[in-house]
Amino acid sequence: MRNSAPARTRELIDRLAVEHRLDLKEYEELVEGFTPEIAAYAAGRAVELRTRVYGTDVYIRGLIEISSYCKNDCLYCGLRRSNRMAERYRLDAGEILACCDAGYELGFRTFVLQGGEDTAFTDEVACGIVSSIKEAHPDCALTLSLGERDRDSYQALFDAGADRYLLRHETADPAHYARLHPADLSWDRRMACLRDLKDIGYQVGCGFMVGSPFQTPATLAADLKFIEEFQPAMVGIGPFVPHHATPFAHEPAGTADMTCYLLSLLRLIGPELLLPATTALGTIDPRGRERGMQAGANVVMPNLSPTDVRKKYELYDNKACAGSEAAEGLTDLSRRMEAIGYRVVVDRGDAKRRMEAGREGSAD
Ligand code: SAM
Ligand code: SF4
Repeated sequence: MRNSAPARTRELIDRLAVEHRLDLKEYEELVEGFTPEIAAYAAGRAVELRTRVYGTDVYIRGLIEISSYCKNDCLYCGLRRSNRMAERYRLDAGEILACCDAGYELGFRTFVLQGGEDTAFTDEVACGIVSSIKEAHPDCALTLSLGERDRDSYQALFDAGADRYLLRHETADPAHYARLHPADLSWDRRMACLRDLKDIGYQVGCGFMVGSPFQTPATLAADLKFIEEFQPAMVGIGPFVPHHATPFAHEPAGTADMTCYLLSLLRLIGPELLLPATTALGTIDPRGRERGMQAGANVVMPNLSPTDVRKKYELYDNKACAGSEAAEGLTDLSRRMEAIGYRVVVDRGDAKRRMEAGREGSAD
């Protein structure tokens, strides 16, 4: 049995690369079948698909962390409201626009506004910011990542010009979700938000942390199955990294190896997916961005926030925000990507359309 395990796992990877779907138990087998050799095999197949759809292009997004205030209390996050030690800040419209202007000069054509769930960003305020960015930079895409809001609010932001929305589902297993969040946050509501966003017409991104407390091969299999069925335009995954002032301070971090393996599996599920090699991956491994690309990722999101606030947006300990993680380090990032055969491009970086007959999906 043991000897046939790698052969069986390879067979599942080959099937996923062609059919882009498996059943739940097969996904679980794939997760359990992780070995460095299997991960290398999956990465090879993933890069093949990535190259077929995106060539060697690397899409960049300028990440602007607009607020560290949050009304929520997610157990894993350093910005949770119970963390009295967190330094709170909020950027105003002028500061956010100035970040976009600076980013535009550097070559960014997508801006991502991310923040805690800060009630100061009412629809009126947020829509005003969205429309002024789109007015100043009509050739750019705007992504929002501002957590859960009412459907009407998502609609208003979309009407104001937002193109994409990132809302990680965090886990596709409701019981697991309940162990990562306080009782006032609900898995059903999170999923309903994702459906609303897709319905409205956003290019939607979901995702999860790798190695979050209580995660199992079964919960990861549920994540992969959910992503296969939901067909998002983007998926953000990165290792869980503990923050010292949260209930999970002493939990182990996720690993770069497992994150890269899962990136490869996601690429096999969705050849056209926009898949970032995230900051968290770059934080736990100095070669995280490169390793992410070599596993099938095609996006990086350097930090474009004002330098004095970067350390305050502390989701987890030792978050990387200098060098290649920083927008100013774009030349360094480009060089590093070129060294492994990839090319950072000046482009909005929309998702390509699904090419197979019968599965035509419009992600852009
Ligand atoms: N507040 C919004 C939300 O929760 O959707 C957007 C910002 S939130 C900080 C973005 C993502 O950071 C979350 O979806 C979560 O997956 C990730 N995150 C939070 N704490 C983390 C940690 N300790 N390690 C790794 N990722 C973390
Ligand atoms: Fe707030 Fe998002 Fe952190 Fe949860 S993950 S505490 S919603 S910033």
